[in-house]
Amino acid sequence: MRVRIVPSTRDGRHQLLTSYLVNDRVAIDAGALAVGLTIEEQLRLRAIIITHAHLDHTISLPLFITDLFDELREPIALYATSSDFAAIREHLFNPRVWIPFEILRNQYTELLVHHPYHAHEPFSVEGLRITPVPVTHTILTHAMLVEDDESAVLFTSDTSATEKVWQIANECEKLKAVLIDLSFPSQLTELARVSHHHSTTTLVEEMKKLRPGVTVYAIHLKTPYRERIIEELDALADPRLVVADIGRDYEF
Ligand SMILES: [Zn+2]
Ligand SMILES: [Zn+2]
Repeated sequence: MRVRIVPSTRDGRHQLLTSYLVNDRVAIDAGALAVGLTIEEQLRLRAIIITHAHLDHTISLPLFITDLFDELREPIALYATSSDFAAIREHLFNPRVWIPFEILRNQYTELLVHHPYHAHEPFSVEGLRITPVPVTHTILTHAMLVEDDESAVLFTSDTSATEKVWQIANECEKLKAVLIDLSFPSQLTELARVSHHHSTTTLVEEMKKLRPGVTVYAIHLKTPYRERIIEELDALADPRLVVADIGRDYEF
C-alpha cells in the first residue's frame, strides 16, 4: 500500500491542512487536495473519505471539485458520516461563500456523490477495505483502518487518549503502521488535553496500548511546533516512534 501525506505549505515540509493519498486513488480527508496535488494527481482520485468535518480536514474540497469541473466523466465518491456531510454541505457549499452542492454537475456527470459510512461497518473502496472506528476528539471523529491483501495502515485522525481503536489495531496481524495525531510539544500538554489532540507526553503514554512491532508515524504536527516536536522525539530515541515526512511516498 502506498501512502503520502499531502503537503500544504509553500516549503512542502509542513502539514497545515490534512490529506493522505492512498494508492493514488483514495484520499483520506480533503484539507490539502487542491493545494498539494497536481491536477493530474487530482484527476486520478476516485474517492475521498472524511474523518471529521473540521476545517483543516475539509477546506480544499470545494476548490478541488470545481477545479475538476471540465474534466470529470464520473463522480468522485465522498465517504462521510451523514452529520459531517450535512456540515460540509451547509457550511462549505454554502451559496454565500461557494457553489451550492446541488448544482455540482457538468454535462456528463454529478461531480460528487455522498456515501454515508457508519462506525465499525467496513466498506470497500478501490480495492481497499476501510473500517471506521470512533476516536476521542472535540467532535465525532473516526480513525480509518485501511487494509489490502498484504498490509494494513491505521490513520487515527485527530484524537486524544482513546481505547477501541487500539483493541482493533492489536487484533490486526497485518498492521504495518499507525499514523497518529501529535499536534503539540510536551510543554503544551494542557492545550492538547482541552483540544483533544496529543502532545509528546500524552502520546508516549498512549503508545503503551499498542502492541510492539508496529511503526508509529507522528502526523498532524502544528506548523509552529514541528521542529520542537522532532527534537522531543529524537530525545526519546524510541525506534518505533518517528515523525512522518511530508510529501514522501511510503510503501507499507
Ligand atoms: Zn479536528
Ligand atoms: Zn485536524
